[in-house]
Amino acid sequence: MFTVISAARVYPPNEETLLDTRTVPGELKWAASPTEGGWEEVSIMDEKNVPIRTYQVCNVMEPSQSNWLRTDWIPRSGAQRIYVEIKFTLRDCNSLPGVTGTCKETFNLYYYESNNDREHYIRESNFLKIDTVAADESFTQVDIGDRIMKLNTEVRDVKVTTRKGFYLAFQDVGACIALVSVRVFYKTCPLTVRNLATFPDTNTGADTSSLVEVRGSCVNQSEEREEPKMYCGADGEWLVPIGGCVCNLGYEEKSGACQACKVGFNRAVSTDGACSKCPPHSHSEKEGATVCDCNQGYYRSESDPASMPCTQPPSAPQQLISEVNETSVVLEWSAPLKLGGRSDISYSVDCLLCHGPENVLFSPQQSGLRATRVCVSELQAHTRYTFTILARNGVSQGHSAGAGQSVSVTLTTNQAGEFFFNLCTSLTHSAPSPVTSIQAGDVTRHGVSLAWQQPDRPNGVILEYEVKYYEKDQKESSYRIMKTASRSADITGLSPLTVYLFQVRARTAAGYGEFSGPLEFSTNSGRTHSNVFYSILFGCFGARDIAFFFFIISRRYKHAQTHMASETQATAKTHTHTDHLGIYVDPFTYEDPDQAVHEFAKEIDASNIHIEKVIGIGEFGEVCSGRLRLQGKREIYVAIKSLKAAYSDKQRRDFLSEASIMGQFDHPNIIRLEGVVTRCKPVMIITEYMENGSLDTFLRKHDGQFTVIQLVGMLRGIASGMKYLSDMSYVHRDLAARNILVNSNLVCKVSDFGLSRVLQEDPENAYTTRIPIRWTSPEAIAYRKFTPSSDTWSYGVVMWEVMSYGERPYWDMSNQDVIKAIDEGYRLPPPMDCPVCLHQLMLDCWQTERTHRPSFTQILNMLDKLIRNPTTTLRRTGGDRPVSSLLEPVAGPEFVSVWSAEDCLQAIGMGMYRDTLTTAGYTSPDSLLTLTHQDMTSIGIITPSHQDQILASVQQVLLSHMQQIQEQMPDSMVPV
Ligand code: AMP
Repeated sequence: MFTVISAARVYPPNEETLLDTRTVPGELKWAASPTEGGWEEVSIMDEKNVPIRTYQVCNVMEPSQSNWLRTDWIPRSGAQRIYVEIKFTLRDCNSLPGVTGTCKETFNLYYYESNNDREHYIRESNFLKIDTVAADESFTQVDIGDRIMKLNTEVRDVKVTTRKGFYLAFQDVGACIALVSVRVFYKTCPLTVRNLATFPDTNTGADTSSLVEVRGSCVNQSEEREEPKMYCGADGEWLVPIGGCVCNLGYEEKSGACQACKVGFNRAVSTDGACSKCPPHSHSEKEGATVCDCNQGYYRSESDPASMPCTQPPSAPQQLISEVNETSVVLEWSAPLKLGGRSDISYSVDCLLCHGPENVLFSPQQSGLRATRVCVSELQAHTRYTFTILARNGVSQGHSAGAGQSVSVTLTTNQAGEFFFNLCTSLTHSAPSPVTSIQAGDVTRHGVSLAWQQPDRPNGVILEYEVKYYEKDQKESSYRIMKTASRSADITGLSPLTVYLFQVRARTAAGYGEFSGPLEFSTNSGRTHSNVFYSILFGCFGARDIAFFFFIISRRYKHAQTHMASETQATAKTHTHTDHLGIYVDPFTYEDPDQAVHEFAKEIDASNIHIEKVIGIGEFGEVCSGRLRLQGKREIYVAIKSLKAAYSDKQRRDFLSEASIMGQFDHPNIIRLEGVVTRCKPVMIITEYMENGSLDTFLRKHDGQFTVIQLVGMLRGIASGMKYLSDMSYVHRDLAARNILVNSNLVCKVSDFGLSRVLQEDPENAYTTRIPIRWTSPEAIAYRKFTPSSDTWSYGVVMWEVMSYGERPYWDMSNQDVIKAIDEGYRLPPPMDCPVCLHQLMLDCWQTERTHRPSFTQILNMLDKLIRNPTTTLRRTGGDRPVSSLLEPVAGPEFVSVWSAEDCLQAIGMGMYRDTLTTAGYTSPDSLLTLTHQDMTSIGIITPSHQDQILASVQQVLLSHMQQIQEQMPDSMVPV
């Protein structure tokens, strides 16, 4: 009867199959009820001529069908959530000639958890329904003629946690169905190695949003750096690796494992990523060496790092000369020919006839001399001395072969004299005088060029200069040194926008002179270019002038957002702090996306983030909620957007652009960026957590539950956020209730800063499917004119969404019909219970001529006015008109509906008449205001004192209630 197109059986690696009817040899023999005339097992051949077993039923002509088919018992093997993939064909009732209303096009799927397989009969009452299954495509006569049928594939999932296994059942209620195959599986996160930790094959959790925390174990020859953890997501994907292991010394990471270093290589310190070749004059003879041994005759000092070549003691100093002046002598020599591969050479003086060091004076000292000169004074007159100069370095100690090489001189002193004593004294200070004139040249974000003059008194040949620099805030607790033989240096690797101090000193053979006084300089905030321009300006004007100059440029060219604009904008920020200077910088003008994101967003260490559960799906991956603890701050709840595992460079860039944009904003009605994780995977964006999620879903969930004042409060928050964005010259382009997030105080914040990019990328395609037609102004749809006024149009649509509790704008009209209706002048009618003035504001936002639309400042003022005088301004329209009427409404004034009639009756002690009044149609508090004595008598409220109480108190209670609402409004809702 049926021919089936089947695919080869290849299962995804993260699915474990519990049952696949296609792989069961022989008949299935499932239990059926009734045993005759219901489901029937039929063997057919698939397109490869492989027999498969199907179940079929087709009692479409008979009424009241209930045909059950039950699988054998399926052990769940540790699964907590199972998936049932059903491939089936279903006859379209219309294609069956002569069928009556008895024909159905669905069947029901059931399950029953059980510990054993002893059920012989189908006990229908034990089974719980999973779902009603309908076909996506039912086949037709034409398809049968071609002998090709459309196979439906439907997957359902259900939690199974209470018993060792379960049965599945299929209930037919009068359809013509063939169950071609049934596959039951569960999802696992397959065994994997991340950051050198092995994570075992792990079953996913019981719920669709579960994240199962799994601890990894370090691979062989590695040890824990930080507890390795990952989360197994419900779809069988591993998420958010935290921590990890590092290879032991002597091993290096290769393809997720630790491999021993080869002979001739070593890995001596854990900070080295990989094994390195043995340094010169050393070797390793075995694999896995943690250190290379020195070759014979070469040594390492205790403080030498293992990466340093092995070295030798120096050879002897050379060319010792002496100059005797009465009872002093100046000894000078040259450095040894061989320094042994080290720079820590020092000299000491041995004096054969000095009779102890207390008798003579060595200047600057007798041993540990760095310079090749010493003065010895207070010698005895007319005495013969022999001086020996010994050269030593870090490996001289204990290595007799190299023990201080020496050179000697024998000399005879003359008469004592003061002049020569002075000579020696000045020799002790013969190092160069300090460098005095340092100048800064080009300044960039990360560097500065310095130049200086030779010291006034070099006192010898200057061998090199040393530049010392450090962050001003850190004082000298941490500094860096750069050496150069010339009188200039390009310092790089500095942090942007940071004040540094620079000092320079010179070195001669006599040693280092003193450091110059510190030169203070701040690195730049803009991008690395236009340095010449900057230097010239800096030379001519003060910092304030430059800030002002840049400000003018940036205001004038703010829409161009060129290189220059972003430089100027950033520079302006550096020097002044007035609010109105904030102009949005497009992150896509940066060549390096990481530079942009780090300009505007803080890098967060992934270990500070604790993920709790999945709360949504974004364009680039899952959105989770969790907690963030930063040093010195209290823990906060955050939302974590992660970039899915396999991403292209473009996707990463687009994903992070949202953070670069968000990071530039700081407003209570704009979602706040906490930071980003870019240095490890997955890449994440961390924002404040909004407990009530997106506004459209939130309103749909709470249909009719808010007062008009509360709804207007939400609209005010959104308008305030949008005013801030338009003041920053940022055009949102995708303002819609789904892109507004709501927190637990009902504060609304604008989010989703991704779309502007997508539209920019595609300048040709004005009708790109990415344009949210229903929310977009006609000029933006027609010729991509996105401006603050097109955002105003979208804001009008958001107003309509809010006032209609998340109704879809233009209901089920097609996009083309919406465009046509708008073009013909039709506009959305007021939602039910929407005050006239709010609908009027929507109509203002939907003016065809964009310059006639109000600005966000005007919208905000208008809403504030409404909130201040709710009873006179927030009147209700007859917004319950038919949905098809798109003409602008004619509104009749009615009183605001801010509270329920029930609440109002309770407040005045008349709760007992709730049902009576509701049945008579008095359902809203304002309807109570229209009651008369006569009305009340006619519906059965006959006690005169009760009638009086209702008439006297309702209005008073309503007004005082409005007053209270105004006083209790959260900050963002209070008019400023
Ligand atoms: P998005 O990628 O921004 O569209 O986010 C997808 C979904 O995740 C949204 O529709 C929200 O339901 C949820 N979501 C995103 N950001 C947050 C947040 N900061 N707080 C709470 N839920 C959020």
